[in-house]
Amino acid sequence: MSAHDAERCRRALELLADYLDREISEEELAFVEAHLSACGGCAERFEFEAKLIRVIKTKLRTVKAPEHLAAKIQEMLRRLEG
Ligand SMILES: [Zn+2]
Repeated sequence: MSAHDAERCRRALELLADYLDREISEEELAFVEAHLSACGGCAERFEFEAKLIRVIKTKLRTVKAPEHLAAKIQEMLRRLEG
């Protein structure tokens, strides 16, 4: 794996972690999704998390989650990353 690839992997991971912490831009989201579909290593490592985040993100859009629940979800996602 080249240093350039590693840099992309690191950025994708950071953006995934940021996904629920803040609104990431469409461009950033596109980068993460493109990277996960192109990078076998990241796709394997983060497939579950990415799916989970997508589901949660959709739910948060349709249902206004109470702040304490949103905080719990963020905490849970951080543990999954660890
Ligand atoms: Zn990667």
